[in-house]
Amino acid sequence: MSPTTLAPGLSDEQRDFVEAIRDFAKREAGTQEQRERLTEHYSELHNRELASKLAELGWLGASAPESYGGTGGGITDACLFLEEAFRGLLPVAGYPVTLITAGAVGKFGSEEQKQAIIGGMCEGRVNAIAMSEPEAGSDVGNLSCKADKSNGGWVLNGQKTWISAAHIADHILTIVRSDNSGSKHEGLTMFLVPTDAEGVEINPIETMGGKEVNDVFFTDCYLEDSTVMGEVGGAWLQLMSGLNVERLIIAANALGVAQRAFDDVLAYIKEREQFGRPIGSFQVLRHRIADLATEIECTRLLTYDVARKVDADPQQMLPREASMAKLKATEVVKRVALEGMQMMGGYGYATEYDMERHVRSALVMPIYGGTNEIQREIISKTYGL
Ligand SMILES: Cc1cc2nc3c(=O)[nH]c(=O)nc-3n(C[C@H](O)[C@H](O)[C@H](O)COP(=O)(O)OP(=O)(O)OC[C@H]3O[C@@H](n4cnc5c(N)ncnc54)[C@H](O)[C@@H]3O)c2cc1C
Repeated sequence: MSPTTLAPGLSDEQRDFVEAIRDFAKREAGTQEQRERLTEHYSELHNRELASKLAELGWLGASAPESYGGTGGGITDACLFLEEAFRGLLPVAGYPVTLITAGAVGKFGSEEQKQAIIGGMCEGRVNAIAMSEPEAGSDVGNLSCKADKSNGGWVLNGQKTWISAAHIADHILTIVRSDNSGSKHEGLTMFLVPTDAEGVEINPIETMGGKEVNDVFFTDCYLEDSTVMGEVGGAWLQLMSGLNVERLIIAANALGVAQRAFDDVLAYIKEREQFGRPIGSFQVLRHRIADLATEIECTRLLTYDVARKVDADPQQMLPREASMAKLKATEVVKRVALEGMQMMGGYGYATEYDMERHVRSALVMPIYGGTNEIQREIISKTYGL
């Protein structure tokens, strides 16, 4: 394990937490055989049994209040868990999106919704969030999935797409248009839709990442009024207020994958010999390693700096900082994985090693959670452009 892999300024308790996750990952998913078994040969990237073990340890509630079964930590603690879980190749792909959903419900949900969603997360349950539609990607405000008032409740119709973990989720926090009369950012409402509700159909989308995303169709799906999450018509502002945490979660996840890709390539180039010496002794490779290590360290400093700012004042939107963390971490993970593959030669491309899977998980990170082009738009706007 490389020496400089801890966020700065951690308490003794946080250091112990990191060590405990590393030990757990080594024990539960340290070998190729274990990982193949846990992921059905890398087709399902979330293992419920493993998530239950993590829940029992209290780690899935690292940033959740104790009243909902959490351990009362902050987003910094959740980032430590995300970084180490993904570095350790624990198959908990449904967790980041569950954490994002819990963040929104924590801010705007009713007491009953908080018990179900935050409490569920602490017990190892998965929940999803649905914004994107076929005609509403980067321009998410263009969404047309709709909710009409009916019989004291609401009826949903329309399609969502690319919904991470919907196939293993209990609920999908769904953003729909409940009023057409205003601008595109007005008249939007969030619903906590149970995935077993009548009129909900979830179909997997084939991707290079295995079972991860889904189309979700709503056909005359009747929902009680109590499923509205937050204010009717207030979803856009609710969505915006959670973006600091959403981007941070993606950054911490990307950081963990980047660190793992780095660990793997470093180990490989120390072992592999060509021309009678380890390939890691060639200056070209050594310099690449130095550059990647520096990039990862910058990413870690930025990510935890933003996490601490959020913990200091969770109401801060931090559009510039949160977008910078997402942009940096997801570009760095892509670079580390692609250069890692190149440095491993043909073996980096073979499924026998993890590097090709690191490449597959890295390539999508600059796309979801708001593409990196959109992050650059947000960052540049904060400079008055
Ligand atoms: C694996 C995966 C998981 C996902 N999970 C979820 C989820 O759980 N929930 C959910 O709601 N969505 C999810 N998404 C959807 C994701 O957020 C969208 O794919 C993303 O926002 C981009 O939308 P799009 O794919 O329609 O691309 P488009 O918006 O069509 O963009 C295509 C290209 O045009 C560029 N572009 C678009 N507009 C601009 C602009 N104004 N300026 C500069 N460039 C621009 C984009 O950056 C991109 O390069 C997921 C997607 C993937 C692939």
